[in-house]
Amino acid sequence: PKFEYEVMRREVERVTEEYNLYVQAKLTQIKENASDPALVSEVNTIIEISADIHKMMKNDQSRLANAVDGDVDWRKREALRLTDLVQRRLDYLQNPTDCDKAKKIVCNPGKACGCGCRLHHVTYCLIMAYATQRTLILHSEDLGYAFQGWESVFLSISKTCRSTVGQTTTRWGPNSMTDDSQVIELPTLDNLSPRPSFLPLAIPEDIADRLTRVHGDPSAWWVGQFVTYLTRPNAMMRKFLNESKEKLGFVNPIVGVHVRRTDKIGTEAKFHSIDEYMRYANEWFDIYQKQHPGVQRRVYLASDDPGVLHEAKQKYPNYTFVSDNEVSRTAGLGDRFTNASLHGIILDIYLLSRCDFIVCTFSSNVCRVSYELMMPLHGDPSIRFKSLDDLYYFHGQNAHNVLAIEDHQSRHDGEISFNVGDIVGVAGNHWDGYSMGTHVKTGRSGLFPSYKFVNIIERVKMPTYHEEPD
Ligand code: GDP
Repeated sequence: PKFEYEVMRREVERVTEEYNLYVQAKLTQIKENASDPALVSEVNTIIEISADIHKMMKNDQSRLANAVDGDVDWRKREALRLTDLVQRRLDYLQNPTDCDKAKKIVCNPGKACGCGCRLHHVTYCLIMAYATQRTLILHSEDLGYAFQGWESVFLSISKTCRSTVGQTTTRWGPNSMTDDSQVIELPTLDNLSPRPSFLPLAIPEDIADRLTRVHGDPSAWWVGQFVTYLTRPNAMMRKFLNESKEKLGFVNPIVGVHVRRTDKIGTEAKFHSIDEYMRYANEWFDIYQKQHPGVQRRVYLASDDPGVLHEAKQKYPNYTFVSDNEVSRTAGLGDRFTNASLHGIILDIYLLSRCDFIVCTFSSNVCRVSYELMMPLHGDPSIRFKSLDDLYYFHGQNAHNVLAIEDHQSRHDGEISFNVGDIVGVAGNHWDGYSMGTHVKTGRSGLFPSYKFVNIIERVKMPTYHEEPD
C-alpha cells in the first residue's frame, strides 16, 4: 500500500474516534442537564443510534484496511522486519567483542518506585545507550526491590560486557556526544542536562519513513523496542509465563482491562469505575462480533485492587473473566520464587500485552508498559487500546507537539484560536472532542478541538549501526 494511503486510512480512523467522543460527550451533557423526560428519552435514542453508527463505521474501516490482497501480510511482515532490525542492533550494541575497550554508558539506580516505573528508568538508559552508541551497563544489584537481580526474571542485557570499569569515566554533560571517555555515567532523566533531542517521543531518522508508513504510533513503537529487549524473559520466567497462561485459560480473542487503584488514586490518577472500562470492552466485542458471530466475550482483568474481580463478575455475567488475582495469592508461587509479587506483576503485564485490545489508564506505568510490549506483536497496535486518562507519554519526554491542519476561531472562554500550520504543545486529550494545550507562538493555554490537529513526530539523526550483522 502507498504511504499516503496508509496515513490517510489511519487519519480517517482517528477523526472517526474524535467525532464519536465529541457527539457522545455533548449528548450526555444535554441529557444530564435536561428536566423534560421526553427530551431525555429522545437524546438517549440519539446516543444509542450514533454509537451504533460509530461501530459500523469502525467495522467498515477495518474491512477496508484488509480489503486489498496482500496489504495485511505486508503490514505484518514490514513490522516484523523493523522489529528484527532494531532488536539486532540492540544485540550488537550490547555484546561488544572486547568489553575492556568498549564505550559504555552506566545507568544508576532511579528513584524507588514500582516495577513499571523502574523498567521505564532502565528504558531511558538503553535509549541513551543506543543514541550514543555505547553499551549499557546496569548496576543490577542496585535496581531495588522490583528486580531482585535482573537475571532472576529477565535475560541478561549483555552476554559479554558487565563491568562498569573503564580507563576514563565522566558524568553526562554538554560534551558527552563527542566525549572520548570510555565510561559515561547517567543521572536520572529528571536530572539529565543537557537534554538531547533524541529523547522520546523522537524516532530515529533512518527508519522514520518505514515506521510512519506501517505504524500509527511510531513513538510508542520505538520505546516498545527497548522495553521488549529489556524484558526478554529468562528460561524460568518463560516457563512460568507459559504455564500460567495455560492454567488461567487465557485464550484470544480477549480484551485486557487494567484497573489501577490503591495508592494511585487521588495522588496521580482519578478513580474510574469498572463500568468505564467495560464500556470499551463491550464496544470492541460489539464490533468484533460483526465479523465473528457468537464470539465468547473474555476479559483479562488485572488490578492492584483485589475487590475489582468480584465486582466485575457480578456486574457482567455474560463475560468470562480471566485473572491471576486469585492465583497469585493461592498458588504458593512464593515457594518457587523469591518474589511472588514481582512474578504477579510481570505476568499481568505480559498477558495484557497479549490481548487483542486493552483498556487502562496511561497515567499508570503498568498500562504504558503493556501497550509498549504490544508493539512488536501486532502490525499496528495503535488502534488496540483505550486510555481512560492520559495520552501515551514517556515520563520525562521532550515536548509533545501537534500541528494545526485547519484554522480555528475560539468559540468559548478558555478555548484557543489558531491557524493552519500553528504548533501547540499538548497537555492532554479530554476524550470529549477537545484537548488541552499551549500555543507555542502565542504562549496561550486552553482547549482546542482535537480533530483539527495531527501529531508531530520528531525525526532525529541517530546512529545507523551499519556494522550490525544481517
Ligand atoms: P504505576 O504506579 O501504576 O505507575 O506503576 P508501577 O509499576 O510503577 O507501580 C505500581 C505497582 O503496583 C506495580 O509495580 C505492582 O507492584 C502493583 N500493581 C499495580 N497494578 C497491578 C496489577 O494489575 N497487578 C499486579 N500484580 N500488581 C499491580
